Amino acid sequence: MSDDQNRDGQKQESPVSNVRRNVLAGAAAGLAGMVAGNARAQGAAAPLTQPGAAPPPSDPAKLYPHAPFASQPQPWPGLASRMQPRPDHGETSYKGSGKMAGRKALITGGDSGLGRATAIAYAREGADVAINYLPQEEEDAREVIALIQQAGRKAVAIPGDIRKESFCKHLVQRAVDQLGGLDTLVNCAGRQHYHESILDLTTEDFDWTLKTNLYALFWIIKAAIPHLPPGSAIVNTASTNAYNPGQIIIDYSITKAGIANLTKSLAKQLVPKGIRVNAVAPGPFWTALQVCGGQPMSAVEKFGENTPIGRPGQPAEIAPVYVTLASTEGSYLTGQIFGITGGTGIPG
Ligand code: NAD
Ligand code: MG
Repeated sequence: MSDDQNRDGQKQESPVSNVRRNVLAGAAAGLAGMVAGNARAQGAAAPLTQPGAAPPPSDPAKLYPHAPFASQPQPWPGLASRMQPRPDHGETSYKGSGKMAGRKALITGGDSGLGRATAIAYAREGADVAINYLPQEEEDAREVIALIQQAGRKAVAIPGDIRKESFCKHLVQRAVDQLGGLDTLVNCAGRQHYHESILDLTTEDFDWTLKTNLYALFWIIKAAIPHLPPGSAIVNTASTNAYNPGQIIIDYSITKAGIANLTKSLAKQLVPKGIRVNAVAPGPFWTALQVCGGQPMSAVEKFGENTPIGRPGQPAEIAPVYVTLASTEGSYLTGQIFGITGGTGIPG
């Protein structure tokens, strides 16, 4: 499938040129608003969307939907727009305060899930943002491009498959060219596909996961470093599986342990260049990754219920950490892995 086709194989125009920003952003806000409404129905004290107001204190366990979730298998790579309930990426709730004014960020996996929440937050904090995603995810990506533009920032859409080194080099160069530089790199793209037994895990599958999660990270970081001025930040995305690996996602867990390890070594190496490197280690988050092969559907239906908070995280709940790690507020943070887990205490 070429870059200008959607998941049904139909021709599409360039995402940037064809964005109907107000319509799409309105649609995104409306759906996220449904999630907020759902959360309120489950006991949250007040909406998170009052202009100019901080959200009031609310019991975090009741703030968002919890299991049981509907069975909802999707073909890989999955679309956030087809999830029920639709994830909250902060479309209606995230408020910026200039923490990333003038910054230039490239976010892989920026169409959906944690990467999308980060893209929305960075734009509202004042950054210009380039997102990478797969061509099949154009529908989700268009909404993100519209939301970045609605925040008054430059949005750059760069679809393509990061399993190829040549594309990774091209991706970074296009981001640099179109943003006019680069000072923030968020590696959020990832592949998770479960196999009940290692005997079912083919070499092709193993290679697919390692290429997406580890090789691409290596290629993108190498391509980006020469462009990053002092004060830049790299934020990687590990997982609690780096520390407590799930038994049916062996290949994925290897990559997440590798990402956590690389984050620490690279942080030491890049201190002399003034570049900070950190990672987040999320627990269960309600994203498309889980419903297109990341978990058995029986586990999706119960997703997040084993955390102390008793529900999955929503992407909006992790975006502030990506902001802190990238912004100058985080100037003494490097070489660290930050768990956002709903209470499991991992890492630590
Ligand atoms: P997601 O499906 O919304 O995002 C993953 C993105 O990876 C996709 O949107 C896609 O654009 C990108 N991607 C996958 N293969 C690619 C390829 N070959 N080329 C280019 N892009 C590709 O799911 P998410 O949960 O937001 O995932 C974001 C990151 O968070 C991943 O690294 C994932 O491992 C990590 N993570 C997620 C959870 C969770 O519970 N959702 C937990 C721990 C870590
Ligand atoms: Mg996606």
